[in-house]
Amino acid sequence: RELLKFTQQPDIISFAGGLPAPELFPKDEAREAACRVITDHGEKALQYGPTEGLLPLRRWLSERMVRYGIQAEADNVFITSGSQQALDLIGKVLINPGDQILVEEPTYLGALQAWNAYQAEYAGVPIDDHGLRTDLLEDALRVGPKFMYILPNFQNPGGTTLSLDRRLELVRLANKYGIPIVEDDPYGALRFEGEHLPPLVALDADFQASAGLNGRGFMEGNVIYLGTFSKTLAPGLRLGWVVAPVEVIDRLVMAKQGTDLQTSTFDQMLAWEMLKTGFLDDHIKRIREVYGERRNVMIAAMEKYFPAECSWTKPQGGLFLWARTPAWIDTEALLAEAVAAKVAFVPGFAFYTDPQKGRNTMRLNFSNAQPEQIEVGIRRLGLLLQAKVTEHRVVTTAPELVPA
Ligand code: PMP
Repeated sequence: RELLKFTQQPDIISFAGGLPAPELFPKDEAREAACRVITDHGEKALQYGPTEGLLPLRRWLSERMVRYGIQAEADNVFITSGSQQALDLIGKVLINPGDQILVEEPTYLGALQAWNAYQAEYAGVPIDDHGLRTDLLEDALRVGPKFMYILPNFQNPGGTTLSLDRRLELVRLANKYGIPIVEDDPYGALRFEGEHLPPLVALDADFQASAGLNGRGFMEGNVIYLGTFSKTLAPGLRLGWVVAPVEVIDRLVMAKQGTDLQTSTFDQMLAWEMLKTGFLDDHIKRIREVYGERRNVMIAAMEKYFPAECSWTKPQGGLFLWARTPAWIDTEALLAEAVAAKVAFVPGFAFYTDPQKGRNTMRLNFSNAQPEQIEVGIRRLGLLLQAKVTEHRVVTTAPELVPA
């Protein structure tokens, strides 16, 4: 945290944050919508509103999610102050001190921060290039975690996507052991290549229906799904949503009342006013193009400047990729040198529940910097890594160090 403060300096190229590209924010649409909201609906927009969220927005979301195979009613949709708040509310409702949560390794740091406050313990199951290693899941499920926390699309930090086979296996095992899944999907709409894969919440509904388990329609499933407008509209709006069975929503709503009563009425109305113009599809298309190009620039630069001993994921969407250096490099120590060389990243250990893991990994964000900056920043990082590899080669091959 101390080092990352320096990344705010203007001459540092930072791949550390998770910020969307600000030049893509829909400022014109927001300005016009804000004017309409205040002029036409000012008394409502500046008033308290229901804890569940604005009904037209919940309806819009339920209709929108059908395209992803999620057949939720407005009653199954609950608006939160960002999906970060949903993570916190889930912790508040579900976690008792000492409860074990099954997480991917590595996983989203913000979820761990939210649940640490409720004294959660963690069981980590590793991911590989196809997402969670479902072949390693069953032993962990037998121990009886409270729930599993899964990021199926363009994982933060890994950039990986859970394959369809593994999604099906995950849902099967979740039902076999009766362990709920919290599916966090902030990046699913930001796919720049490949086919969209069905969300776990939809696969779970199919599973329940085919097993004859679901007597009361879709929303009796085993999955709590989290979405957000942070990466498609703007994170400053602080608008996220939960899709879950009504019984779960009721508990979360009660928890939210004690937290902040409701998500900002004005922000919800602003979003709704923007969304109903139908601009979002074109807008998301533009974001995908820009981020896809930035990913390409970052990967091309890594191929050019990073030593052959390094490897990285090739995300098909989202904001991040994950790089591995040789095992003897500690990326936490490397960050200090990188900041001195005016480039920053997040050392991978931060995304593990055990800080001894992931010591030779790093998360790189490609959405926020301009392509030219990405090239320069990756060059700086690459030169640093090259120097380390060369130095290591000299040391380990020096004649006096070669065993007799
Ligand atoms: N989950 C994941 C995986 C994230 O990456 C983020 C933000 N970076 C969040 C949740 C929280 O997002 P927000 O509160 O802005 O919706």
